[in-house]
Amino acid sequence: MMKVEEQEAYTAFKEKFFDWLLLYEDYGHFSKMMLNLLLLLKQELMVREVTLFLFDPIKKTFYPEVTTREGDILSVEIQTTHPEKNIYVHDYGEYTSVQIFLRRSEEFIGVLQILYESHQQWSLSFFERIEKDFSRLLSKMKRISRGLSEEKRYERLHHFTAKIHASMKIEDVLEEIIETLREVYPSFTYYLFLSHDHQYHDHLPIKMLMFENDEENIGAMQAFLTGKIQLEDSIALQRSILYAPIKGAQGVYGVIEIIAPHIMEFPKSEMNFISLLANTAGSALENAKLYEQSRRLVADLQLINETMHRLNANLRLQDALEFMTEQIKLSFGAEEVGFFLFDSEKKKMLPGSTPFFQSRQAKKYIEFVSKRIRTERDMVFLGEAKIDASPPFPLFHSLMAVPMVQNGRLKGVVIVLHRQPYHFTFEMFKLLQSLIHHSTLAFTNAMLREELENLVVTDYLTKLYSRHYLDEQLQKSMERDAFGTFILIDIDNFKEINDTYGHQTGDDVIIQVANVIKQNIRESDIGARWGGEELAIYLPKVGLATGISIANRLATKVRNETNPPVTVSCGVSYWKKNRYEEATDLFKRADEALYMAKRSGKNCVFVKDYHHQYKA
Ligand code: GH3
Ligand code: MG
Ligand code: MG
Repeated sequence: MMKVEEQEAYTAFKEKFFDWLLLYEDYGHFSKMMLNLLLLLKQELMVREVTLFLFDPIKKTFYPEVTTREGDILSVEIQTTHPEKNIYVHDYGEYTSVQIFLRRSEEFIGVLQILYESHQQWSLSFFERIEKDFSRLLSKMKRISRGLSEEKRYERLHHFTAKIHASMKIEDVLEEIIETLREVYPSFTYYLFLSHDHQYHDHLPIKMLMFENDEENIGAMQAFLTGKIQLEDSIALQRSILYAPIKGAQGVYGVIEIIAPHIMEFPKSEMNFISLLANTAGSALENAKLYEQSRRLVADLQLINETMHRLNANLRLQDALEFMTEQIKLSFGAEEVGFFLFDSEKKKMLPGSTPFFQSRQAKKYIEFVSKRIRTERDMVFLGEAKIDASPPFPLFHSLMAVPMVQNGRLKGVVIVLHRQPYHFTFEMFKLLQSLIHHSTLAFTNAMLREELENLVVTDYLTKLYSRHYLDEQLQKSMERDAFGTFILIDIDNFKEINDTYGHQTGDDVIIQVANVIKQNIRESDIGARWGGEELAIYLPKVGLATGISIANRLATKVRNETNPPVTVSCGVSYWKKNRYEEATDLFKRADEALYMAKRSGKNCVFVKDYHHQYKA
């Protein structure tokens, strides 16, 4: 029989409980709801402390779930795990503890522990009443909170799905996974195991997935390899861990590690939720990855496309190679770029290569690469190239080499270097491959064109000699003769002729000027088409004074004899033995003199001698 005071106190509690229930909203959170209930009980019974323990089915013990305890008030832990009776009362003198074992059907689900002043003297029938009511209440509350929190959780999942599918950034997806989990299970700890070393924000709890036999890693590794959820209980650390694979249609991208604060059984409904979350994350991550990949591919294609465009537009091989070198330096952060032609047994360095490749040190790299390429017909991609360099030359650790193959024949090789080890990524290597693959045809065309040009001795339009022929004859003269004069001739304002009369007339004017030249030089002199509306004359064994008067005579004749009338500007240069000059020096000075002639009003002749320049 319950005492009257007990009946009154309990009725008051029930009334308050009813009021509370009507007002309470936050059912989704089991612990919070139970704490409210315990606080109400503590207040109405005027006891010291109420604690609810829940049963851990794995450890087969009771762990404290919620308590009204604050600070260091005395408390008692559960000793009994196989109670013979439902209620244990311990008198500790000043206060008493009662442990009321709650069960559903025959199974224990928890213990309600109440600490109260010994003088309160609650009766056993009062505790029996509490046992009966709270047993039913506890399982009801559990069901309610589970149902409601599940609803809330799926709402959150829906939100999560919408959000991550709207984002194409891998980082956003990862962040959202963690945020959602923290919201749904706030008392757990989370980590993301990822297999790749991406640079993500520091605030994400990311662990590296090590493919080694690491004790700590086993559960995560297992989840990653099998694609299935793994459970692990760490008795030593007093906690349960769940590993959920982040799985897409094409593979597993990582593992979510969920650590419970104590040993517990992850209920089936939770596991379903977590794997749903992980799978959603997996497909979102997959999308984001594919998107990143396709963006990179588009950028790569743009680079190849632009390079091809420039290569096809560029006429000279040297310009084409210089452009390629720049592109490779820019796109891959390369330090040295070299182009080599395999001409019978020789390796010819092509212009446009960086200066390093002219050094003796470079030979080691070139030998190494050409040996590999010739014997294996393959490319070379090294992050730790073992080529001994001797100081002061830097050691290039990163090396990429791609052969140029045309119609199945090995034409040459491109070598790309960087000092830092592992500087180039495999993506860059693949891009270099397609770049070279696509540009080899343009290169061989440019080479072919230049070879053809070299075979042609006369210019088709003017019937003057070709530039290449003049070049050859000048070289021979410089070896054979004592001196010679070079005149560079450029038609003034020629663009206007074209614009006014059309290209046909333009061509005709070039022919007229060429004819003036032919009529005014000797058999042994070489009149040539230098390019476009620029013409040139080399006069072997002709002194500077004679050369200048020839240039002036030509300028006057052109002025008087062309129709429509045009004028020319001339630049004159001169060489003689023992100055140790080369053909290019002669061309350069003539070009500078011509530039001066244009600057000073055109229709005149300028000379650039060894030291000074003047109008002649
Ligand atoms: P400047 O006095 O500074 O030399 O002026 P310019 O107009 O002569 O020089 P510019 O280099 O600006 O233009 C040269 C023009 O000659 C441009 C090009 O279209 C034209 N040209 C080059 N080769 C040929 C050709 O074989 N036939 C025709 N008709 N035009 C040509
Ligand atoms: Mg010109
Ligand atoms: Mg001109």
